[in-house]
Amino acid sequence: MHTDRKALWAVRQSALPAVVRPCPDCSSTRHRPSGRIRANANGKLLDIWLLLSCTACDRTSKVPVHERVHVSSLDPARLVAYENNDPAVVRELATSASLATRNGYRLDWTGTWDLETRTPLHALDDPTPLKVLVTFELPTPIRVERLLMLGLGLSRNAVRRLAGSGRIQLPLSLDAKAHRDFELTLHGPGSVDADTAKHPKPLSRLTHLGPHGTPRHLPRQAAAGA
Ligand SMILES: [Zn+2]
Repeated sequence: MHTDRKALWAVRQSALPAVVRPCPDCSSTRHRPSGRIRANANGKLLDIWLLLSCTACDRTSKVPVHERVHVSSLDPARLVAYENNDPAVVRELATSASLATRNGYRLDWTGTWDLETRTPLHALDDPTPLKVLVTFELPTPIRVERLLMLGLGLSRNAVRRLAGSGRIQLPLSLDAKAHRDFELTLHGPGSVDADTAKHPKPLSRLTHLGPHGTPRHLPRQAAAGA
């Protein structure tokens, strides 16, 4: 019965994550990818390293990507990418959680992303369900609750209330950390879909969002008054 509305929220990369591990030369623990990959051949055996720079002293250090692998076991296009310091491959390695685990360091994602949203202004007041596709340009782990606060411009409590009332349908819990694309649905106030889906007696659940029949013009006001 509804014509769904759609919105896109995009997690955009603003920087690569810092690699957190001790620097042998100074007291810093933060490293940045230098943008270079080193390949070393010994006969038919190859070593491939991602090169990092200490953010304090610039010391270069190496993260093993492949060790003593036979040249025939690597995809030729991949090998060319390694030899050319392909930025896409540097980025892939620098954001790889499995490479971090394998080499015993942590990734610090602070300051690596922005959320770009194209949400209709009255998204929360429109009775038509709004489907929101959240896309990730880089696999930054972000709490779902924080994404919703930013995307909807609401406080933590307001987001919790909306989710608790069934108006936000999510494939993940609010406390989960998302790092790849997912879709959520935002149901309008008094929405039949949300009511029947989540609560047999929805009206009493929704009273705290605003008096019935009173038009609400700004989501923030609804949140502040609740
Ligand atoms: Zn250092």
